[in-house]
Amino acid sequence: MSKLVSKWNYPTTIRFGAGRISELPDALAATGIKRPLFVTDPGLAKLPVVASTLKILDDAKIPYGVFSDVRPNPVESNLTAGIAVFKKGKHDGVIAFGGGSALDLGKLIAFQAGQTRPVWDFEDIGDWWTRADSNAIAPIVAVPTTAGTGSEVGRASVLTHEATHTKKVIFHPKILPAIVIADPALSVGMPQFITAGTGMDALAHCLEAYCAPGYHPMADGIAVEGVRLVFENLPKAYANGKDLTARAHMMSAAAMGATAFQKGLGAIHSLSHPIGGLYDTHHGMTNAVFMPYVLAFNRDVIEGKIERLAAYCGIKGGFDGFAKAITKLRKELKVPHTLGGLIKDLDMDKKRKGLIADMAIVDPTAGGNPVKLTKKAALSLLENSLSGTV
Ligand code: NAD
Repeated sequence: MSKLVSKWNYPTTIRFGAGRISELPDALAATGIKRPLFVTDPGLAKLPVVASTLKILDDAKIPYGVFSDVRPNPVESNLTAGIAVFKKGKHDGVIAFGGGSALDLGKLIAFQAGQTRPVWDFEDIGDWWTRADSNAIAPIVAVPTTAGTGSEVGRASVLTHEATHTKKVIFHPKILPAIVIADPALSVGMPQFITAGTGMDALAHCLEAYCAPGYHPMADGIAVEGVRLVFENLPKAYANGKDLTARAHMMSAAAMGATAFQKGLGAIHSLSHPIGGLYDTHHGMTNAVFMPYVLAFNRDVIEGKIERLAAYCGIKGGFDGFAKAITKLRKELKVPHTLGGLIKDLDMDKKRKGLIADMAIVDPTAGGNPVKLTKKAALSLLENSLSGTV
């Protein structure tokens, strides 16, 4: 019994369902936001999904500003520019609207606008988050338009440190949005590549959280159902983006993945983060590339767990059956089997491989891998993902 000790944090109010974006004015009122800054990305800003959401604010006569200078894998200059707009417009809260990039940056603007220390002082290391003035954090309403990162229910944001090309996790409990509007109708316009990549991100979160060591039966239960939802719905959402039921289940799976991963992540993410930082690849698609190699690497420790997971998901053949199901899913979604398939003209020399392995083993997710991720192991996983050897 002595090992059954843990700390659990569960997410926030989620208004889930198609069409519920109409409740945005009510959600703002409930969080006390009177003058929101609407944060999105430049691609989404041009789409009808943003225009129709802004019309809801117009109709409700809510004064708002828009900030969309957010690149995929956002960087500090995006944050600095967003904070300037937030302050200039005298905004009192943020509507973070979009995929993980816009959600993360919107959350960070609300967090960082009232802080005096640099954002890097709040990296997810030990209790660094206690350095923040928590009374100065503005409220956030989050509206996901992809179904993968689960950032809408997370207490962290990822920000790329441009000088070192490292993806840093900035953490504070109050970065967690006060209200989430999870409206699957907003995600129907996602192109196939993003549907596949974000969906595989949700799968990577659920799978790594489930396999991470440590006692967290609630996270395990959520992760297991999240994996099932992805297997059953991602191919449908990919084949027919307008399948609202599949989109809805994927939006749930995304939130479930991020809820579960407070238990831990693992080597898929430890390798994916340096690749994303150095090559600016899509996070979920990079996870998808690494998935089978890491699964095989961890086999000895997780075989029993994966057998139970496979049985729950109705996948026959135990561990091997599950591994095959991942390979089949990747093929169906046109996920590249190797890193070379993901990154054009990839040419990695020994020094670059060493750098990636060094970055992977110090990534905060490395500690959650069921098998210790040594430099030798990281190098071997990297070689496998280059040659396609599972
Ligand atoms: P993204 O936010 O970068 O968006 C990818 C593209 O999809 C963009 O061009 C965007 O315009 C487009 N898009 C989004 N929604 C759309 C829609 N409904 N219709 C049409 N196009 C749409 O991608 P993402 O995968 O959601 O997020 C990735 C980011 O999230 C990375 O920066 C990653 O590091 C971060 N992340 C954060 C967490 C967290 O816990 N905070 C977890 C995982 C990943």
